[in-house]
Amino acid sequence: MRENYTLPRLYLEGALGEGQVTELEKTQAHYLGTVLRKSSGDHLRVFNGKHGEWQAEITDLSRKGGTLICRAPLRPQHICPDIWLCFAPVRKHRNSFILEKGTELGARRFQPVITAHTQFPKMNLGKARSQIIEAAEQTERLDVPELRAGVTLEELLSGWDKRRILFFADEAGGASPAADIFQEMSGKLSCAALLIGPEGGFSKDERARLRSQAFVSPVSLGPRILRADTAALALLSLWQAKLGDW
Ligand code: SAM
Repeated sequence: MRENYTLPRLYLEGALGEGQVTELEKTQAHYLGTVLRKSSGDHLRVFNGKHGEWQAEITDLSRKGGTLICRAPLRPQHICPDIWLCFAPVRKHRNSFILEKGTELGARRFQPVITAHTQFPKMNLGKARSQIIEAAEQTERLDVPELRAGVTLEELLSGWDKRRILFFADEAGGASPAADIFQEMSGKLSCAALLIGPEGGFSKDERARLRSQAFVSPVSLGPRILRADTAALALLSLWQAKLGDW
């Protein structure tokens, strides 16, 4: 088990290293001082997604801000497998669920995709990023998933790097089980992406467009229709179990 497991974790934007002093933002000072009741001299763990995890000491803390200093390296930098989760935005609380659970399940990138039946195309990217960071702190990740701005399905496909397979969760049936497809590809894939549709599913034209792409592989998640958030996490879990780091 990792030592210092009980120390709280905080994501910092700036550089980390021996003796590095970091100014705390107001929200971070509030979290440490008011929520966690920490004070000067207390220790915590910090990470920035690039320089591993460090033990840090709070050297100054007030309502308005504070400072902390990196004392010792705890864990070298590690990045999750190269799996992207492309999803049509759904209702706000379900988007939050996809982002939080997707972060825990090791997604490296979130890509919102606006499709014909997407009812909630707008996402508050600032809020979404904070949710992702919070989930990364909690789940002991050392990297933070990237969150891209939304694109249309057409933009996604036309700008796609064809070396990356796009597994398209097709609820309309006729696709092979995702577990079988992933099993067959075990050891052959270093990167991939998953695509999940909106509450109203993919349109016929979108399905035909997707299936016409050589880099797209339709997959099934079984006989029942899953909600978009359930499908996203089920497919990501399957991928991690067969091709990822589980
Ligand atoms: N048209 C249905 C509806 O309106 O509820 C299906 C949409 S489903 C809620 C949202 C997305 O989850 C689908 O577009 C698909 O990507 C994925 N999905 C749900 N069930 C699935 C299944 N059994 N196999 C593959 N993908 C599934």
